Amino acid sequence: MADKYLELVNTGFTKNLAKTLGLPRPSILRRHTPGAPLVPGPVLLLGNSPASQGLSDTMLGWGLDVRRHAVGEGKIGAIILMLDNVAEPGELSEPMLAAGHALRQLAPGGRVVSFSRPAGGTDAPAQAAARQGIDGAVRSLGRELRGGATANGVVLGERVDATAPSALAALRFLLSGRSAYVDGQFLHVDSTDGELPADFEKPLAGKVAVVTGAARGIGAAIAKTLRRDGATVVVVDVPAAGDALAKVANQVSGTALQLDITREDAGAVIIEHATSRHGKLDIVIHNAGITRDKLLANMDAAKWNSVIAVNLESQLRMNEAFLAAGLPGLRVVALASTSGIAGNRGQTNYAASKGGVIGMVRASAAGFAARGGGINAVAPGFIETDMTARIPVATRTVARMLMPSLMQGGLPLDVAEAIGFLASDSAAGINGSTLRVCGQSLVGA
Ligand code: NAD
Repeated sequence: MADKYLELVNTGFTKNLAKTLGLPRPSILRRHTPGAPLVPGPVLLLGNSPASQGLSDTMLGWGLDVRRHAVGEGKIGAIILMLDNVAEPGELSEPMLAAGHALRQLAPGGRVVSFSRPAGGTDAPAQAAARQGIDGAVRSLGRELRGGATANGVVLGERVDATAPSALAALRFLLSGRSAYVDGQFLHVDSTDGELPADFEKPLAGKVAVVTGAARGIGAAIAKTLRRDGATVVVVDVPAAGDALAKVANQVSGTALQLDITREDAGAVIIEHATSRHGKLDIVIHNAGITRDKLLANMDAAKWNSVIAVNLESQLRMNEAFLAAGLPGLRVVALASTSGIAGNRGQTNYAASKGGVIGMVRASAAGFAARGGGINAVAPGFIETDMTARIPVATRTVARMLMPSLMQGGLPLDVAEAIGFLASDSAAGINGSTLRVCGQSLVGA
């Protein structure tokens, strides 16, 4: 739901006033509406990759209007840059400049998505330079787009084609309104694993999912989004949040499990509840988390240890239980934070726990993959919750100025959409990675 400021700067007389005063004028973002078109107009496919034809055929099959050249003056819904076969920096010029030429036609809420390869240490230097250059170019382009448009990329492992299931799923996610607050990011597809859902509106049909910390905030949004996408949902929170938890369980027609996740046997309790009530466990979302902010000079052991215990050690212990139980195909998504990447004053304990989550998923990927599953993290930036709504308008406006790309915080729903995508079987080729949902800003909790 858009807040008052967003409404004011986008409508009528106050829109013109905001323009005259030079106030930041964030756009209302294009978010997923069931049944809505994937993109707001034709798709322009640029670049000379041999994979272009196959990708074009697939997108035509999705009902998209695919063009190989910009034509006329009409709006374009998305620009796809096929850069997966560039061998030297000189090859970037033509497709990048062609994209630049078409940008004026990009519709509000439009998308730019690149396909590229990882720049490895054993590549020829010119090839690695070109590949890494794409990263910088796409992130910079993200900062130039307006009207809620975003630029992101799919990075294909050496033996993965642009039409591999997870590459297509990543493309669909990035084109869609589900990625509204994902900007300047790259999804790495490392294997040809995964399959696209039979019904793109219900990618989690038949799945049983557990969401921790689901009594409120981002956790409640995750539970609702997984339910919308077809999953049966178990919501978990501390006994003290029991009433709110029961409400969320009702809203998602799921079951509630009152549990402190720092308990030694939390993993076993979760498995027992999911299997006895719903027959299996397919998805776990490690969302429960706490902050106990203090400058390190004033930090006490209780504040440091409780944050590490809830945000990180509990997840490590539950994952061990899940792996030991040998649950087939289990997909796990853990909540990190941009604080764990960029650091945040007063959050050494929290950033240690969230940086820790990023390391944990990277090192746990092989273990989950061995049982046909996977584990990834989502790192939210500044997410507008009840808490941020209480920040005075002036302070919030300044915070938005520090977010030059989209000029606004994200919503819990935006985090939930990224989690829903990574939890789906179609994302099986993505493992051990962390996706930022931050509107290309490093400000966040
Ligand atoms: P929140 O405080 O609103 O909700 C967290 C929930 O976790 C609460 O319901 C709480 O009762 C539950 N919880 C805490 N300790 C628990 C325990 N030991 N056992 C079971 N449940 C427990 O937080 P939120 O803003 O919705 O954040 C959710 C997640 O997203 C957290 O991991 C947080 O670190 C992360 N995150 C949030 C933001 C943001 O801007 N809000 C940004 C980055 C990351």
